[in-house]
Amino acid sequence: MASRRPDAHHAAEFLGAPASPAGSSAAPSSRAVLESSPDALLVVAADGAIRMVNAATERMFGYSRAELVGQDHRMLLAEGFRSGFQRLFFALRRDADAAALPPVEAYGLRRDGSEFQGEIACSLVAPEDHPEGHPDAPADAAADAAAGADAVCMAVMVRDISHRQAADAGLRAAMSLLTATLESTADGILVVSGEGQIAGVNNQFLSMWGISRELLATRDDDAVLGFVMDQLVDPAQFIEKVTALYADPAAESHDVLDFRDGRTFERYSRPQLVAEEVVGRVWSFRDVTPARIAQDQITQAMADLAEQAALLKSLAFQDPLTGLSNRQLFNDRLVSALLGPRGTAVDVLLLDLDDFKEVNDILGHHAGDQMLIEVGRRLRACVRPHDVVARLGGDEFVVLLVGSLDPEAAAARIVESLKVPLWIDGTMLRPSLSLGLASISEDAVDASELLRRADVAMYAAKAAGKNRYLRFRPEMMTALVRRTEMEAGLRLAVDSGQIAVYYQPILSAERGVVVKVEALARWERDGEIVPPQQFIPAAERSGLIVEIGTEVLLRGCTEMKSWLAEDSSRFLAVNVSGVQLQHGDFAELVLAVTESCGVDPRQLVLEVTESVFFGDDCHVIRQLVALRKAGVRVALDDFGTGYSSLGRLQELPVDTLKIDQSFVAMIHTGAEKLPILTSMISMAHGLGLTVTAEGVETAAQAEYLIRLECDSLQGFFFSAPEPGSGLEPAISRSAEAFASLRGDRVPGNR
Ligand code: C2E
Ligand code: CA
Ligand code: CA
Repeated sequence: MASRRPDAHHAAEFLGAPASPAGSSAAPSSRAVLESSPDALLVVAADGAIRMVNAATERMFGYSRAELVGQDHRMLLAEGFRSGFQRLFFALRRDADAAALPPVEAYGLRRDGSEFQGEIACSLVAPEDHPEGHPDAPADAAADAAAGADAVCMAVMVRDISHRQAADAGLRAAMSLLTATLESTADGILVVSGEGQIAGVNNQFLSMWGISRELLATRDDDAVLGFVMDQLVDPAQFIEKVTALYADPAAESHDVLDFRDGRTFERYSRPQLVAEEVVGRVWSFRDVTPARIAQDQITQAMADLAEQAALLKSLAFQDPLTGLSNRQLFNDRLVSALLGPRGTAVDVLLLDLDDFKEVNDILGHHAGDQMLIEVGRRLRACVRPHDVVARLGGDEFVVLLVGSLDPEAAAARIVESLKVPLWIDGTMLRPSLSLGLASISEDAVDASELLRRADVAMYAAKAAGKNRYLRFRPEMMTALVRRTEMEAGLRLAVDSGQIAVYYQPILSAERGVVVKVEALARWERDGEIVPPQQFIPAAERSGLIVEIGTEVLLRGCTEMKSWLAEDSSRFLAVNVSGVQLQHGDFAELVLAVTESCGVDPRQLVLEVTESVFFGDDCHVIRQLVALRKAGVRVALDDFGTGYSSLGRLQELPVDTLKIDQSFVAMIHTGAEKLPILTSMISMAHGLGLTVTAEGVETAAQAEYLIRLECDSLQGFFFSAPEPGSGLEPAISRSAEAFASLRGDRVPGNR
């Protein structure tokens, strides 16, 4: 193929520039433009021969123009790219409308054998358009003719895009870095376009939400949204937030999503910006469930701890049984009340249940606890909510009134409140209490003094007959001192033989003669007789009762030995305190005494109260059983005053029932109906026990009791207790008194 100079005019047209007169100074010539193009421009004929090249072609491929024109164009293409020309050519010719196909990428081959990546754009050039050969070369008419009918050529532009590839590589690297980053983050990321379409997600997003690639591939955003919403505890809040953010595309947000399955995500949202323009929104989700669980656990642990601390604190100041305050809290409150403003009334009401030990012993600890709880409840109800009610221990309670106008009224309410009977395990109980009241005053300003005074007053209330309240009076202190003195004196009395024994006759209702005498202790103190009620409780408290009891038994046996010996149907009755029975050798001691005195144990009666049977230890019963085996009889004293019932009698090792004087006192005229007495006596008989009535003071009482078939009678009507020396006349007087009774006895009487 010959090299020819293409016409300058044609060349300009080939480049799409308007034709301009050659040499015009107003605009560069077409040729100049062609030559100065930075892209390689070639014209290739239908047979693939190069017709024309520009300077850039020479530079790009390293051939001179002369070396190229007329050569096959494929010399400029790298292996694998050489067949493209024909395809393009025919495609362009087939579709005449397509002015130009989009550029294609191909590898060029330089003279030195090196390759480079280029972008190639082609378009057809009409026969009359295409320049010939070298722009500088004259047109070759012969070559033109040789081209024949198919003179259509293709204009080819080649642009070296190696630099762009470098930039693309950078972009790819950046993209891969970004992808790697997105995929390696623990956060789930979702990008939504400005139109609301899902523009991209990372894998973490899909796995966090459990969205399958298939679901995502459907491009059904509603389905994806529905899937998301189903998992949330509060889908409405989710939608609300999304809506709010789309209304304000530039806004950022952060909130928390709770899942139905217990997970928690943090949700961040920020606009996606391109050149400072919002084109979409980036959502990132972080699974904070473990952190939340840990936080929840910490919060729970803290709450538990606080609760426990509060509980411990409350327990430290609370009586566990009744839920009332305890001693410590009471003391604290009393001390601070006493430090309060001058002139504020401060009253301490100390109280103790009467005979609580019996409830515990007879009905059991459960009943005792129930009673304490109920008493606590009633106490609380008697005072204002802010008044302190505390249990000090056992059956001892205390109430602190601060600023009370009428503490006596409160004390009276408390005593009254216990009069309502209470039912425990089917048994009706009537608890009572003794209450001591002490108030702040000029000479009583400290807590311990106030408590001491309340205690003294409470003791006085007990001594005055229980079931009442007493306000502290200074004389009570003297009584207390006396009591302490008494305990000291009693010790001395026992040691120096001041304990004497008096005897009270007991008559057989059948025979009308004295068949028994009861030994009763007396304290002959400085010429006066101290009654047992005054010293027996003190003796029991101090334990001196053991020595006193032994002394009474010894003296009784000694002094009554001959009277007993005269008639084997005569008896000596001796009172025995529960304290004595606690001593394991009591039975041996009794039998040793009777033996040493030469008294038949079968003529001895031991009087015990029912409370001795209900202590924790069963050796009390064992001792009485052993004594009964030796012939000693046991009488149940003061029957009817305790909590025991007739029903329990048959279980006890008892021979005789002594009906308490309070029942006998119910007989006034002798005409009244007293079913309780009747049933007591007949029940005792039914159980094989004999019955003695105590405190018989009138003939009417004696006659009434005889009519009820009571076996024995004792009381001032016959004789008061007398010292051993005065017993003979007392015995005679008793028989005379009996003989004076009307003899209207029920037939069949024993
Ligand atoms: P108790 O065993 O119930 O003794 C009967 C008490 O009733 C005696 O009081 C007696 O004097 C009194 N009494 C007798 N007949 C009548 C009467 O018709 N009317 C009235 N109102 N009272 C009458 P005492 O001697 O003052 O004894 C009181 C309590 O002291 C005794 O009650 C007994 O529980 C206790 N006691 C007396 N001596 C001893 C003793 O040696 N040991 C023990 N442990 N306690 C004793
Ligand atoms: Ca007695
Ligand atoms: Ca009695």
